[in-house]
Amino acid sequence: MPFSLTFAQVFMAVNSNPKSVDFSNTEIAFSHLQISDLKKAHLLFSTFKYPVLVKYGPKLAALCLNLGLPIKGLLKKTIFNHFCGGENILDCNKKINFLYQHQVHTILDYSVEGEETELVFDATCEEIIQTIHASAANPSAIPFAVFKVTGVGRFEILRKVNNNESLNASEQAEFDRLRTRVEKICRTGYDNNVRVLIDAEETWIQDTIDSLVLQMSALFNTQKPMIYNTVQMYRHDRLDFVKKCFSDFSFHLGFKIVRGAYMEKERLRAEEMHYGNPIQSKKENTDKDYNEAVSFCLQNLERCAVVIGTHNEKSCVLAMQHMQDMGIDSQNPKVYFSQLLGMSDNISFNLAKSGYLVAKYVPYGPIKAVLPYLGRRAEENSSVKGQTGRELALIEKELLRRKKGRIN
Ligand SMILES: Cc1cc2nc3c(=O)[nH]c(=O)nc-3n(C[C@H](O)[C@H](O)[C@H](O)COP(=O)(O)OP(=O)(O)OC[C@H]3O[C@@H](n4cnc5c(N)ncnc54)[C@H](O)[C@@H]3O)c2cc1C
Repeated sequence: MPFSLTFAQVFMAVNSNPKSVDFSNTEIAFSHLQISDLKKAHLLFSTFKYPVLVKYGPKLAALCLNLGLPIKGLLKKTIFNHFCGGENILDCNKKINFLYQHQVHTILDYSVEGEETELVFDATCEEIIQTIHASAANPSAIPFAVFKVTGVGRFEILRKVNNNESLNASEQAEFDRLRTRVEKICRTGYDNNVRVLIDAEETWIQDTIDSLVLQMSALFNTQKPMIYNTVQMYRHDRLDFVKKCFSDFSFHLGFKIVRGAYMEKERLRAEEMHYGNPIQSKKENTDKDYNEAVSFCLQNLERCAVVIGTHNEKSCVLAMQHMQDMGIDSQNPKVYFSQLLGMSDNISFNLAKSGYLVAKYVPYGPIKAVLPYLGRRAEENSSVKGQTGRELALIEKELLRRKKGRIN
């Protein structure tokens, strides 16, 4: 299939779902959940319809925890349990095994956002290395490790480097330590044969991240793709970036393709600072570039590997269609689909059941430290027309199906 998809091709692909993967099959999507879990999930997604709760809930929860009020148990049983694997790696084992029983793999995501101190960065680096060891000990269930560069170094130092601002001696030493942590993580992945994904962040630090990832790829991707960069297709320059990386470098390349999580922030900053908006002018352009980037990787699997990180059904269907057209085995380890824990189970579990490789991000960390992550999930799920509507409709469909069949 050519890179540029016509409307007819998109239409045909979406309406001839390959290998008959039915994303509306809620029986498969929720086979891992008891009726009581489904009712809890229904209540949770229903609360996301209230903007006040979404806006102030996480802040209020943080305040209560700071004041020592006993809300940890409630959080743990509700939003935390839905979107996170646990407070530490050991806690996550139950969910890892559970997912794996349904052929869904895990990517342990240490989702702590805290103080920007060298002590915290060192501790985070060590924790990420523990996720690599967990993966090395259980490679079929945990095929990747993941981290954010801002977890192991200060945002402002990344921004300065990005902006070509000169660093003083102490800042240079700080940036060197950041780079050393990134290399330590990637080297541990390489030594243990664990692939490492590096998340994408804001545009005003992303050039620095890209440069670090490319340096790591040059070191560790000589034989096969071990280090994966993330590309955000809501940026209008990223399809060219993917293609340029491929033509400029001779080592293997790993790409996690996502649409991008910081759209409003990007737009606001560009407006305030009077520079061109890096974001696509409309959603359709993001979708088009997303599908073309996936297609490009699939056409170049001899030197590319791809993680299709999305909750968008059409993009998944198109990717499956391309795989089928190009004769790519659904178990090819260079092609993974990926969703976040607690979201779009209809995609993850139906894809896995049909033989595709799927890995869920399983975030974990102390409850208080993962509250910002939970706040973002609540926000992302707060549009009634969008994700919440989709999740609620699927849960309701399954509840009804079980009621009719008197299934627990
Ligand atoms: C496994 C996984 C890993 C992820 N890793 C990262 C990461 O490292 N970095 C990161 O930034 N995000 C990451 N994300 C989040 C991701 O970028 C998206 O925000 C999220 O997945 C929603 O996009 P979608 O493809 O699932 O689906 P959709 O619901 O189809 O798309 C929504 C997305 O489209 C884009 N969009 C919406 N409206 C417009 C518009 N008007 N104009 C242009 N674009 C628009 C935005 O990116 C929005 O988030 C990850 C997501 C997953 C599932």
